[in-house]
Order: sequence, then structure tokens, then C-alpha cells
Amino acid sequence: MKVVVQVKLVPTPVQAAALKHTLRTVNEAACWVSGVAFARGVPREYELRKHTYAELRETGLGAQVAQHVIKKVRDAYTSLHANLRAGNLGKKGSKRRIKVESKPIAFRPQAAQPYDDRCLSWQYDAQTVSIWTTAGRLKGVHFACSPNALKQLTTHRKGESDLVERDGMFYLIATCEVPEAETREPGGFIGVDLGIVNIATTSTGYRAAGRKLNRYRRRQLALRAKLQKKGTKSAKRLLAKQRRKESRRAKDINHRISKTIVTEAERTGRGISLEELTGIRERVRLRKPQRVALHSWAFAQLGEFIVYKARRAGVPVVFVDPAYSSQQCAECGHVDRLNRVSRAVFTCRGCGVVAHADRNASRVLARRGQGAWDAGRTSHVPATSPRS
Ligand SMILES: [Zn+2]
Repeated sequence: MKVVVQVKLVPTPVQAAALKHTLRTVNEAACWVSGVAFARGVPREYELRKHTYAELRETGLGAQVAQHVIKKVRDAYTSLHANLRAGNLGKKGSKRRIKVESKPIAFRPQAAQPYDDRCLSWQYDAQTVSIWTTAGRLKGVHFACSPNALKQLTTHRKGESDLVERDGMFYLIATCEVPEAETREPGGFIGVDLGIVNIATTSTGYRAAGRKLNRYRRRQLALRAKLQKKGTKSAKRLLAKQRRKESRRAKDINHRISKTIVTEAERTGRGISLEELTGIRERVRLRKPQRVALHSWAFAQLGEFIVYKARRAGVPVVFVDPAYSSQQCAECGHVDRLNRVSRAVFTCRGCGVVAHADRNASRVLARRGQGAWDAGRTSHVPATSPRS
């Protein structure tokens, strides 16, 4: 499976200036190629190269870099067309769609630029890279990353990496081809209940409270409203920066939560039972104050992280229908809307058990996960298999 590893470059001021100028130059070139592509009805890469390659070389771009610029532009149009086809940019004839279709794709001066092994080499021991720039080849540019990421890079890095600038910082995004672990037969399932107040609650006792994140988001929202009202260019820039920062923060939290859950499943030899992701998206589209608290994409991302980390660890994940999981008793299976006394408290009308509501729901999900796994397994067993 493909794993993406991001490292932060720690360039000297001179190196930073060269990197900045390089990204600016290649993205200006990409904008120009994009204009040519647009004017010619977005031809295939080969055709596009005929109309742009020589001129790109004349501006001083190396052969590989020129080819990467052309490929990047062609790829951008390919994914734009895929998005248009999928209806992600609105219906045909809609304002939004006309706006995207009526002009060439533009590339920001900081947009990602792909580098192959000829333009970028890695020295893992020294934690440096040697990278092509418009100011010549930079050698010994330091990078920072976790020991884990470094290990992954050393053993599995393969193919192209992207250079990108974010908020004045430079990053390399490398691709690693990591072998997948074989899925183990689970001895039971961990149910994971997702929510606003508690981002994740598991049937084994782990709870990730959302209080801190929710408070942070409320503060950000107030700030955002203020900036939006201002509407100046610098306010807009600040807004974009805030948004990126916020999504980075949610991503960090999701990484931590998913890691905790998958590690526990691995340690205890269990599988993971998750609510169907579409269910999460729908359920999160609740009331307004809650919508403010956490976006549905954050839940979808948490689900993706769990699936991805579990796959790497050989932990099976099943998706179950979450319907009524908050009203059903994990002990006796009784379903009643009145079981849910308050947001936090669950009291079963059938057997009288009292439990934390999220914990109860996570146990219901765990049970459903086991059920789904058993059903899948029996359907794979041949009908004629002898009983022993
Ligand atoms: Zn009960």
C-alpha cells in the first residue's frame, strides 16, 4: 500500500530563497503551459509537449523539470475533468461550473512541484537532501521528521516527491510503498462510537474528549467572522492561514486517536467495528451549534485514518449500520428511545442497566461488528464442510 510521508525542510536563508524562487518559476511556467493547453482544447501530454517544451527549455528549465511541469499541468486537467464528470463542481451550466470551465487552471506560486530521483536525492543518515533549484543544485539541505517517518523513508521510499511551500515553510511529500500486513482472525471486536462531545469512545474504555477541540473551534469561528467582515486582502490571507492551521490541528488529533485505537486492537488481537462512514456524515449534519463544533470531514478523516492504520497492522475493520445504536441496550438488546435519558446517560427500560451513553453505543457497535464478521465468515465456508 502507498503511504505518504511528509518532511519539513530546514534550509538556510540562502537555500530558502532559492527554493522560493524555484517554486515561483516552475509555477509561472505551469500557468503559461496551462494557458497553451486551454487554448488548444487540452491536448494529450505528448501533443502539449510539442507546443511548450522548447520554449520552457529556453527559459532555463532543465529537461526533467520542463517535462514535470508539462505533466503536472496535464494531470491537473485530468483530475479537473474527473471532478466535473463526477459533479463535484456543480451541475452543467451552473455559475460555479461555468467559472471553472471558462478559464485555464491557475497554479499558485507555492503550488506543489513533483521531483524525481534525478532532481532530488536523499541522504537519510545525514538527514539531508540534494535538490535542483533555479539557483543550481542545493546540497545538504536539512530536513526534520519523526524517527518513525525516517525509518519508513529509508526502507520504503519510491518514486516522486512533491516540493511545496506552506506559510513560508518548505515541505517534501514523499511516497513510500509499504507491504501490507496479513489480516488476522480477530478474537472479538472493539466498537468505536463517534460523536461531538466525545470524538471517539470505545467499548474497551478509551475516550477521546472533544471539549478542548470544540472550544478551540469556537474561538476560531469568532475570529473568522471578524476577519470575514473586514474583507481586506490581508484579512483573506489570514483567513486561509487560519483554516489550514485548523485542519492541521484536527488532522493531528485524528492521527493520535486512530493510533490509540488501532494499537489497542493490535495488542489485544481484536478487530475494529466502525459505523459506516456515510452514516457518520449524515449524523453529523445535525443542529447548527453542533455543526459548528466539528465538521463531517473530520469524522470521515478519522475513519480513513483508522482503516489505513489497521490495514498496515493487519487488524480487520468492519463497517456496521449505526441505526439505533444510541437507543439499544448493549446488555439485553432492548431498543427504546426512552433508554437514552440524556446526552450522557443510558438507562435500559428492559433490564434496568445504567451506563454511559457513548460507552453503551460503542458496545452495541462492537457486538454488531462481531455479527457482521461472523456473517461474512460463514458465507465463505463451503456448505458441505463436515461438522466436527
Ligand atoms: Zn437492557
